[in-house]
Amino acid sequence: MKLNIREFTTQSEGFLAEFEALLAWDSVSDVTVQESVANIVTQVRKKGDQAVIEFTNRFDRRDVSAASELEISREEMAAAKLRVSDELVASLEAAAKRVNDYHEHQKQPSWQYQESNGTILGQKVTPLDRVGVYVPGGKAAYPSSVLMNVMPAKVAGVSEIIMVVPTPDGVVNDIVLAAAYIAGVDRVFTIGGAQAVAALAYGTETIPKVDKIVGPGNIFVATAKRMVFGAVGIDMIAGPSEILVVCDGKTNSDWIAMDLFSQAEHDEDAQSILISPDLDFIKAVKASMERLIETQSRNAIIQVSLENRGAFVHVKDMDEAMDIANIVAAEHLELSVDEPEKWAQKIRHAGAIFMGRHTPEALGDYCAGPNHVLPTSGTARFSSPLGVYDFQKRSSLINCSPQGASDLAKIASPLARGESLEAHAMSAEYRILADAVSAEKS
Ligand code: NAD
Repeated sequence: MKLNIREFTTQSEGFLAEFEALLAWDSVSDVTVQESVANIVTQVRKKGDQAVIEFTNRFDRRDVSAASELEISREEMAAAKLRVSDELVASLEAAAKRVNDYHEHQKQPSWQYQESNGTILGQKVTPLDRVGVYVPGGKAAYPSSVLMNVMPAKVAGVSEIIMVVPTPDGVVNDIVLAAAYIAGVDRVFTIGGAQAVAALAYGTETIPKVDKIVGPGNIFVATAKRMVFGAVGIDMIAGPSEILVVCDGKTNSDWIAMDLFSQAEHDEDAQSILISPDLDFIKAVKASMERLIETQSRNAIIQVSLENRGAFVHVKDMDEAMDIANIVAAEHLELSVDEPEKWAQKIRHAGAIFMGRHTPEALGDYCAGPNHVLPTSGTARFSSPLGVYDFQKRSSLINCSPQGASDLAKIASPLARGESLEAHAMSAEYRILADAVSAEKS
């Protein structure tokens, strides 16, 4: 099948402007979606369960009459696990363990230190009390997303994890429930979209209010998360998935073609880009793609995605490839090159860096260990993968000794008076030790 994928060369005039236009993605939804989501959020806030039931029946084509019908117990999750094949359960358990082990390394301890005058300063790290995990379920099921969102919360020590997942037409996915059971989810509600996000943000008679909502979802979910932010925390607003492969031309072209497909098959807006200094290799990858796409069950989505947002970029050398990779700040970056450690040092912006010819992104998506919830649309410039730190918060600790308070008050008092905050100044001055005052007077 012939594929119309954009081809760039960095040597051509206007390359950067054209390339950046291809990368551009506006995560803000249109006015119609915003109005519709605002209405759903308001109704759920006002009417609680009744609104959640109404929207669930309407959007997921269900026939629920009582909110209790929306909950799936731990016993039902365990029963679902028994219906899943042994092979799949073994894979879920192995993946859960690896994701858990990786995230154990991210735990941040509380810390403190003492100054010479006895004052102690520190930081207390505390897990969130209750977290809501959104697992998408409109068009496909994502058991891997259950593990990736829940395991870091468990490692952080979150006390209660509430999962929501829509079940269109009432069809429950056993693999998703098995993953929830294995990961240790406390409660599952079969609701989705903006109504699920609003229910978690504000609480209803049945669905508990949470402190933070994490997890990917469609435009209704993303818009609702943006709207409820402030009442609850959110992880991020994820755009379409992306892969950027940098290859020196020495990897099997079929492997690279399939790595590019592995993102393109997600959806029509996904982005797959190959950068190489070897023009013949780019041609070979294109030929592989045109041959292999015939074998793919999701070839229609792959074709639209590649023709919409895919690209081949011919660079003059590997250093220039690294410069372009830093401009893209890709969610997934594959360095399919010799000496990937050397080149990875030049990467400043990427959600996850897959190093060497034997590290396809697909392994990271499921079971390598690091999280697959990653910053998209260039946001890797300022944000990080979902991690244990997203489920912990920090409190500052200040414990002044009498001498420490006296020393600090002498710094604070002029600053407070400079801001015309007299009570602040006096509160500090009361702590100045008498002998310090008399010593200063003499
Ligand atoms: P979803 O669960 O996000 O959305 C389904 C819900 O959308 C329905 O329950 C319904 O309430 C709501 N909805 C649908 N049409 C509506 C309408 N007209 N008005 C109001 N609400 C409406 O499931 P999905 O649709 O399959 O989307 C999943 C998304 O999550 C995809 O974009 C996928 O790429 C993304 N995803 C991302 C990751 C990641 O790690 N970044 C992982 C998995 C999935």
